[in-house]
Amino acid sequence: MVSRVIPVDPFDLVIFGGTGDLARRKILPALYQRFRVGQMPPDARLIGAARSSHDAADYRAFAEAAIREFSDADRGSLAAFLDTLDYVTVDASGETGWAGLAERLQPGRVRAFYFSVAPGLFGDLAERVRLHGLADADTRIVVEKPFGRDLGSARALNKALAAHFDESQIYRIDHYLGKETVQNLMAIRFGNMLFEPLWNSQYVDHIQITVAETVGVGGRGEYYDRAGAMRDMMQNHLMQLLCLIAMEPPAKFDPDAVRDEKLKVIRALDPVPPHHIVRGQYGAGDSDNQPSYREAVDDPRSTTESYIALKAHISNWRWAGTPFYLRTGKRLVARSSVINVAFKDAPHSIFGEEAGRHANLLTIRLQPNEGITLRVTIKEPGPGGMRLVDVPLDMTFAEALGPEGGDPPDAYERLIMDVIRGNQTLFMRGDEVEAAWAWTDPIIAGWEARGDVPKPYDSGSVGPAEADQLLKRDQRQWRGINP
Ligand code: NAP
Repeated sequence: MVSRVIPVDPFDLVIFGGTGDLARRKILPALYQRFRVGQMPPDARLIGAARSSHDAADYRAFAEAAIREFSDADRGSLAAFLDTLDYVTVDASGETGWAGLAERLQPGRVRAFYFSVAPGLFGDLAERVRLHGLADADTRIVVEKPFGRDLGSARALNKALAAHFDESQIYRIDHYLGKETVQNLMAIRFGNMLFEPLWNSQYVDHIQITVAETVGVGGRGEYYDRAGAMRDMMQNHLMQLLCLIAMEPPAKFDPDAVRDEKLKVIRALDPVPPHHIVRGQYGAGDSDNQPSYREAVDDPRSTTESYIALKAHISNWRWAGTPFYLRTGKRLVARSSVINVAFKDAPHSIFGEEAGRHANLLTIRLQPNEGITLRVTIKEPGPGGMRLVDVPLDMTFAEALGPEGGDPPDAYERLIMDVIRGNQTLFMRGDEVEAAWAWTDPIIAGWEARGDVPKPYDSGSVGPAEADQLLKRDQRQWRGINP
């Protein structure tokens, strides 16, 4: 099964912050890969923009080094890709360089501006792009996360962007939505007859969503210590997974139809009481000499969480009574993103008490080893009566699609091409982001008011023991982090 590549129209893409870490690690390698497979046309132009003074040759050398470090490169296509690059010195919050940028843009083609700079500059950039006449009704702007740190700041950002651009021109990136397997959630749910009739509180006992990382805060300590796992992961990535798992079927796979349904899920979320929340902070690694969280952020008294688990409820007809257990953390035992849909026990066992209790479990692995496993109950082979056993019906997508299925493109590859195509389905709408903050803010305000201190947990573990209690109290338990 060879994936089809449909070239996009020629475009001009300006990367503000083109010399930054994100451009180096993600944006430039992603664009190169799309060029290499023939999706980005050779006459497209990529213009790096930042305050530091460089010429096009410097920027090509920067991009070449980045692509060699973070991507597979072959010499022929890399040279041709580098030919599409240019650079202009521009100050987002001053007047330097804008005339030079205007000269480099070609009329009559798709034009996009990627704001890969600190969020404090988003408003300045939107204003200057508009005031310098660089945008028309079809121009797109791409903004990176974090989109605010609470409802107030997210609203202010939305307002600053809306002063110069229509919502249909604003592409807010949550790179999780660009992951092949995350989109597959919609295909699994709405492309199959099998699951949807059972996808409700009548048949589903509970749902677990886990996004576990093995890495610590690394070089992002300063930012992370002001954010924590709730703002950095739960409010956006886990919230998006929750929406895709819980939303009603949209009438069609169209940007606003999908985003309307996601928004309804967020708005139906109940407030989360304190005893449904567990925050944790990792200690030093025993075996790998890695620093503890407090050492990594250089604050021996930090009370920021590097782990959070919580129990959420969605108050609507489909989900009333079905808890959603969400957890995410750093320095955990494995890197994995997985969703477990635990079905209820059969209403009556015809096999009697001794057959034990058995329930189906659908495990959706987003990474690694993308695939799904359905645990089904069968008779244990052999004589000696009707004993039941649960066995996995397992499918790994890579095996099912065969070697020609190839590696899925990186999330940024898909998302940037969607910007050029003008498809907003995988981007967060302003009201969606605000609703997510409206749910998050009181949770954070609650623990700040209580002076809550995160529970310590060992690096390389599954998180604090208190998170196990969260489920044990409901006679449930977490599935393994590494399914
Ligand atoms: P970074 O490494 O600090 O780079 C910032 C870039 O912005 C540099 O190119 C810098 O170049 C430029 N810049 C700063 N002030 C400017 C101004 N006044 N006018 C024009 N350019 C200016 O930051 P980053 O890590 O790439 O992050 C960029 C954005 O992506 C941030 O919003 C961040 O939160 C988000 N993000 C990053 C990552 C990541 O993995 N890095 C992941 C998710 C989201 P000059 O100093 O030369 O101007």
